[in-house]
Amino acid sequence: MADKKKEKPVCVRCQHVGNENDKHCIKCGAPLINKCADEPGLLTNGCSYVNPPDAAYCAKCGHPTLFHKEGLIIPHQPKQYPIQVK
Ligand SMILES: [Zn+2]
Ligand SMILES: [Zn+2]
Repeated sequence: MADKKKEKPVCVRCQHVGNENDKHCIKCGAPLINKCADEPGLLTNGCSYVNPPDAAYCAKCGHPTLFHKEGLIIPHQPKQYPIQVK
């Protein structure tokens, strides 16, 4: 009875619900998986850690995530208080 159903990815841009194995939204082309944008390079192995959809930065290495890079989520901007000089 308790059928474990896989979570379907929801597009953060247009809210289209994709299929379990979809990597991109079929409606608008936005990525559905918020992977770390740290790609493997010549000197690094990359990270490709899969973060929650609301993560602007990778929980593992602190790199901007794919959603952040694509402009799908806006990172929190720390409030800047004017420095008071005595
Ligand atoms: Zn979409
Ligand atoms: Zn990472």
